[in-house]
Amino acid sequence: MTTVSLHNLSLAFHAGPAVLHDVSLTVAQGELMVLLGPSGSGKTTILRAIAGLLRPTEGDIRFDERTVLDVPPEKRGAVMVFQEHALFPFMDVGANVAFGLRMRRIDAGTIRRKVAQALAAVQLAGYEDRRPDELSGGQRQRVALARALVIQPRVLLLDEPLSSLEPSLREDLRGIIRTLQQQAGITMIFVTHDQADAVAVADRICLLMQGAVRQTGEPRSFFERPVDSDVARFFGGNNFLPGFKRGRIVDTDLGPLEVDDSERPDGDVLVTIRPEAVEVGENGHNNLVGMVESYSFHGLVARCGAGISDTQLQLTVTPYQRFSRGEEIILHLPRERIHLLPVENGQ
Ligand code: ATP
Repeated sequence: MTTVSLHNLSLAFHAGPAVLHDVSLTVAQGELMVLLGPSGSGKTTILRAIAGLLRPTEGDIRFDERTVLDVPPEKRGAVMVFQEHALFPFMDVGANVAFGLRMRRIDAGTIRRKVAQALAAVQLAGYEDRRPDELSGGQRQRVALARALVIQPRVLLLDEPLSSLEPSLREDLRGIIRTLQQQAGITMIFVTHDQADAVAVADRICLLMQGAVRQTGEPRSFFERPVDSDVARFFGGNNFLPGFKRGRIVDTDLGPLEVDDSERPDGDVLVTIRPEAVEVGENGHNNLVGMVESYSFHGLVARCGAGISDTQLQLTVTPYQRFSRGEEIILHLPRERIHLLPVENGQ
């Protein structure tokens, strides 16, 4: 098991501008870290640098405290699985999975046993004789995973392994990856731009924006304590209100709101509350009368827009709570769910 650490990594391609800026991150042994971020934020570049396919311009990459910058890719013990499950089309599944072991000159009996174990781990026991073109996309992706696992890498690097799959297969493979990681205790770094995939598989998430780390933490922390409005927006659907904080009260366009957040100093703030944290019905403090302006059913949830003075609050309710346009509702904003962000330029 291996701890991977990045120390003040910067990287520029050729003479171009830097695409990674001072990236520092530690992935504990056996941890599943997700690198999340919009397209072009530098996720794949970091993965390739860890694999040894790119050399950082500045900074260090260490496996268990030892620098690997001068260790060639094939000796690092980091294996990368790509989005486009690049299986050898002319080899059957067994030969594909065995490939890395054959290169290591291991005896045939051991190879057969290890291949069978790796296929069983991705729930494809007995698929050795199939050809890749006889498999579904999800199965091919699982073979690619088995091929990486079979050589027992120190570090498994997964580049968008779910993005070419339909939703139900995504869910299956998320579960398989999570189980493998928990059983085998492999250090995994998983790249995705999809926050739902990230939240579902990660022990911790590192959110990248424009080549720099914006926030690192457990999935829940991005919902409950985003560091700024970009992070809050990336995680979708927050309500934002400008306000002025005086102790435990914030004055807003909705009137004064009681808050719990004592970390933020008094003065201008950006008040956020997630749509699923807004409650319907009077309850203690922070009750507001709103007028339903929109309502839509989404299966597992329903979404509602409620107008209060000139502001609209978004709320997510259960699909069984039905409201009509024009209906008056009382909204409760629990103070422990209100999060205060710093005011940035132009907000
Ligand atoms: P995506 O989700 O779209 O794959 P990403 O977050 O993985 O994006 P990277 O592929 O790491 O982003 O790219 C980061 C930046 O580096 C982008 O601006 C990209 O254009 C640039 N870049 C990537 N590869 C090269 C290259 N070989 N030469 C020059 N610039 C590159």
